[in-house]
Amino acid sequence: MIIIVKQDAKEERVQDLIHWIESQNLRTHVSNGDYTTIIGVIGDTTKLDDDLITGLDIVQGVKHVSEPYKSANRKFHPLDSVIEVGEQKLKVGHGNFALIAGPCSVESEEQIISVAKSVKAAGATMLRGGAFKPRTSPYDFQGLKADGIELLLEAKRETGLPIVTEIMNANHLPLFEDVDVIQVGARNMQNFELLKELGRTNKPILIKRGLANTIKELLMSAEYVMSGGNENIILCERGVRTFETATRNTLDLSAVPVLHELTHLPVIVDPSHATGVARYVKPMAMAAAACGADGLIIEVHNDPPHAKCDGAQSLRPEQFEDVAKAVRAVRAAALECNG
Ligand code: PEP
Ligand code: MN
Repeated sequence: MIIIVKQDAKEERVQDLIHWIESQNLRTHVSNGDYTTIIGVIGDTTKLDDDLITGLDIVQGVKHVSEPYKSANRKFHPLDSVIEVGEQKLKVGHGNFALIAGPCSVESEEQIISVAKSVKAAGATMLRGGAFKPRTSPYDFQGLKADGIELLLEAKRETGLPIVTEIMNANHLPLFEDVDVIQVGARNMQNFELLKELGRTNKPILIKRGLANTIKELLMSAEYVMSGGNENIILCERGVRTFETATRNTLDLSAVPVLHELTHLPVIVDPSHATGVARYVKPMAMAAAACGADGLIIEVHNDPPHAKCDGAQSLRPEQFEDVAKAVRAVRAAALECNG
């Protein structure tokens, strides 16, 4: 339920209304816009009497939100959310573009430090790297685990770049204390127990869309984390599985404008896992920037042919530099077109 508050309503009266709603075991989310204040009510709102609330002199109207995602819903929070990352409070969303780059997996100190330095020089704003890797085969490289996180932290100390890395098991959370953004990979998008645990943290969570999940299901995963109290969510479109085999997945770029309509959360795109082919990364990264993505997450490796994971889709540092430049140009053009 959404309660639209009259513009001239006294703050004290608005607070009284909020307290009254919360006293009935419901949660509220207040959104203060320039012209209207909206109180989003979350929980079983059937116990509230619409007529009683509509009749209050500070209330302009009441609307019901039929979508099952409430906290993530733009109706509850009309303005774009801006997520702050790391000690430097790097902003993501509402025009703040995140350019996340790095290897699929952290392989060695030399590798992660050299990639971190080169992507930073090319304009990356965050460093990615998998320490716990979700691999289809149990015989493939599973990541350096805790040591991988240590190496990412070292790269962060060297470059100042905030780090993004994937969690697969809530029991590993203590290892993620100094990680800036915790990634939930496509395969864990509906690991609800993991999402609930992440809802109890205050870290930014990057949730990737599952291989065969709808946009609505992605929003419900965000809702799991948000309902636990952590509203720092960044969504990521990374391609879905279709009948097409020319690319690793099919990049559903229409998810970007659709999500921007449905939710206030920032939406980034992963053209690397979406295509699986390094030469397709640049055109899809440019397309993502053109359709309004709030960022990109791109795999970059110092020696792709010898990468332990996802070499075929990894860019060399100089290729990433070229992509970063093209993305900046597209963003500038898109800004002009959108006014
Ligand atoms: C990754 O980003 O390393 C990854 C495994 O991606 P996804 O979960 O999208 O497959
Ligand atoms: Mn990968």
